[in-house]
Amino acid sequence: MVIILEDKIPEAKIQAIMNVLDARHLRPHLSVGEERTIIGVLGNTSQVDTFSLEALEGVERVVRITDPYKLASKTFRSEPDVFDLGKGVLIGGGHFVNMAGPCAIESYEQLDSTAQAVSQAGAKVLRGGAYKPRTSPYSFQGEGVVGLKWMREIADRYDMLVVSEVMSEVDIEGMMPYVDIFQIGTRNAQNFRLLKAVGQTNKAVLLKRGMAMTVDEWLSSAEYVLSEGNDRVILCERGIRTFERAYRATLDIAAVPVVRAKTHLPIIIDPSHAAGEEKYVPALALAATAIAADGLIIEVHPDPPSAVSDAAQQLTFDQYEDLMKKVHTLEEVVGLEDGSNPANWL
Ligand code: PEP
Ligand code: MN
Repeated sequence: MVIILEDKIPEAKIQAIMNVLDARHLRPHLSVGEERTIIGVLGNTSQVDTFSLEALEGVERVVRITDPYKLASKTFRSEPDVFDLGKGVLIGGGHFVNMAGPCAIESYEQLDSTAQAVSQAGAKVLRGGAYKPRTSPYSFQGEGVVGLKWMREIADRYDMLVVSEVMSEVDIEGMMPYVDIFQIGTRNAQNFRLLKAVGQTNKAVLLKRGMAMTVDEWLSSAEYVLSEGNDRVILCERGIRTFERAYRATLDIAAVPVVRAKTHLPIIIDPSHAAGEEKYVPALALAATAIAADGLIIEVHPDPPSAVSDAAQQLTFDQYEDLMKKVHTLEEVVGLEDGSNPANWL
C-alpha cells in the first residue's frame, strides 16, 4: 500500500500520519521525492481500511499495490533512481557505469594488470570473485579474503570501486572492509536470508537475475533488500535458461524496457555469462548500450585460455578496449552522456 501525501505538506503532519501507522503496527517507509512525498506501507495491509487513511489530514490518496513488491515498484517512486556507488560514481537516470574484471581473482598480478587495462578503457568498477559458486565442489572455489585484500588495494590504486559476489551471510562481515558493492549471483537470487542480510548493510547490492526467474520474482527479491532499509539495489540481467543451447544463456534484452516500466531501480547487463563465448560478448554489450541499460559488467582476463573459471567467455585487454570505444560512441548516440533519462524516451 502506498500513501500519497498532499503537495508541500508540513513536517509535523507527516509525523502525525507516521504515528498513526506505527500505532496500527504497520511499517511505514517514507520517501521524500522532488515531486511527491510518499509513504510505502509494508507488512500485511490486507485488513487495513484505506478510507480511514484517506481521511487523515495531509493524505491525498491511498493506492493498494497488488504486485508482490512495493518499495521496488514505480508506484512508490516514479522517477528512476540515481545513486552514488562510492567515490562519486553515479548510476541510473542516464549515468552509465562500466564494470569489468576477471571472473575469479587468481593472483595479485592477474588482478593488477586487469585493473590497469580496464580502468584505462573507462571501467569504474573492478569485478572479481573471491567466493566462486562452482557447479562442482572440486572446481576452484576462490581465494577468499586474501583475494579481497588484493582487490581493495588494487582498486584504490586505479581509483576504482570493488564488486564481488557474496555467497553466504556468514561471509558478509569478513567482506565488509574490502567491497563497495555486494554481488548476489544468479544461483542465490532467491536466497532470502542472504538478501535480507545484505539489505542490513550499507553497501550497494548488484542483484543478478536468477536463471529461471520471472521479472516479478526478480523484483520481489529486490524487495527483500529494500525492505531491510538498503535502497541501493542494481538489477543485473545475465541471461536466463531456455531450450536454446547454442550459447550459454538467453540474454533477455526485453527485460530492460519491461523492468523500466515496473521499477525505478537501475538495470545493467552482463553479456559475458549470457554469451558463454567471447565472440558473442561485443554484440550483446552493444545491444545493452543501445537499449539504454544503466551499465555493463564484463569479464576480462590477461590470458583468457588460462583462466581458472569461465575461460571461454573472458575478453582480452585489447578486445575490451576495442569494445569500450564502440560502447562510448554508442553512448553518445543514445544520449546517455548528458545524464538524460532513458526512461523518458523508451
Ligand atoms: C560471476 O559473475 O562470475 C557469476 C558467477 O555470475 P552468475 O551468478 O551470473 O553466473
Ligand atoms: Mn564468471
